[in-house]
Amino acid sequence: MASVLIIGAGGVGRVVTHKCCQVPEVFDRICLASRTIEKCERIAAGLPRKIDTAQVDADNVPELTALMKRFKPDMVIHVALPYQDLHIMDACLEAGVDYVDTANYEPEDEARFCYQWQWDYHERFKARGIMALLGSGFDPGVTNVFCAWAKKNHFDEIHEIDIIDCNAGDHGHPFATNFNPEINIREVTARGRYFENGKWIETEPMEISKTFDFPEGIGEKKIYLLYHEELESLVKHLPEIRRARFWMTFSDSYLKHLEVLQNVGMTRIDPVMYQGREIIPLQFLKALLPDPASLGPVTRGKTCIGCLIKGVKNQAEKTYYIYNICDHQECYQEVGAQAVSYTTGVPAMIGGMLVAQKIWSGAGVFNMEQFDPAPFMEALNRYGLPWTEKII
Ligand code: NDP
Repeated sequence: MASVLIIGAGGVGRVVTHKCCQVPEVFDRICLASRTIEKCERIAAGLPRKIDTAQVDADNVPELTALMKRFKPDMVIHVALPYQDLHIMDACLEAGVDYVDTANYEPEDEARFCYQWQWDYHERFKARGIMALLGSGFDPGVTNVFCAWAKKNHFDEIHEIDIIDCNAGDHGHPFATNFNPEINIREVTARGRYFENGKWIETEPMEISKTFDFPEGIGEKKIYLLYHEELESLVKHLPEIRRARFWMTFSDSYLKHLEVLQNVGMTRIDPVMYQGREIIPLQFLKALLPDPASLGPVTRGKTCIGCLIKGVKNQAEKTYYIYNICDHQECYQEVGAQAVSYTTGVPAMIGGMLVAQKIWSGAGVFNMEQFDPAPFMEALNRYGLPWTEKII
């Protein structure tokens, strides 16, 4: 039995909390804490079990540590924002609590994310005898586990990985993001980057695109090359990889609006003066856009996220595709959130569950692909994210 402190009461936090409630044999005590306590209380009111709620500023390490010492969790599942990663890791070190997150650290004033900041905590976590599991969402998260599964069961060597993320859902708004708008827009307006023959190659944002034929009736969609954090850990832990790329679909309407917003400066993250006070244009834009949590009831259609992998098995070349399809409306019916929150929140719960059960264990800081993928793959089928694999 484990007690879990979930930090962040957004779309993903709602799903993690619902899913932890569905596994009472593992999570006997649950506390949902966030900056705005009313959001925690709203989620708690719709749960099948009673949980604790708390107000916390996750940028304030003493406040976080005090909450951990009061609630005494075995682990934190952090689904607030990437800006809080290091503060929450500091508090976990202070209180001796395991840590799970879904997005790597990003400084608030610089649109740059990388694992090194968190990898640098390895020795301190090891010395404290606690564990950090990084990136236990879908991408990163399930995509890393898909690669470890492919390596374990289908390949002697993996040479090429294309992670392909499609949201074929429609929320009816001309422009909205399916997860935190600030984090989403920072990610997609950044320069593209992929790994080839031992080197990182940079591109202009959205410079490289092609079409991909998605399975199960989704059909052909245009996909755009982006830099994504799991590429960094995958090329570290699977050093035989020759090329690793990440692709995402965007609707024409999304791209048209994004271009205009960028051109007029609304995606800037540096402060500008407005009526005598400093504002960050992207944060102001976030305040205008629909809250991703509000898209649940109106989003229809499916997501399809998977990995197309090439390599060799028994000296023969092989191409393999593994993916999950998730239906926005089915997710909403189950937990009151759309599929982008669902596909992130379910793996966060599974990662937490495997750490709580010590099925995935160790002292230090780890990425998903460093563990045996089998129990995670089995749990995906059991907790709502079934996967399909094909040799092509
Ligand atoms: P939301 O913006 O909906 O929710 C974030 C929540 O965190 C909000 O409730 C917010 O509170 C709270 N929060 C923000 N800052 C603080 C703080 N300083 N202290 C306490 N609480 C805080 O985001 P999502 O739920 O859509 O996303 C959550 C996380 O999941 C993000 O880090 C995102 O990058 C990650 N993600 C990962 C994916 C993956 O596949 N790996 C995919 C999608 C998302 P308030 O409302 O009061 O501001």
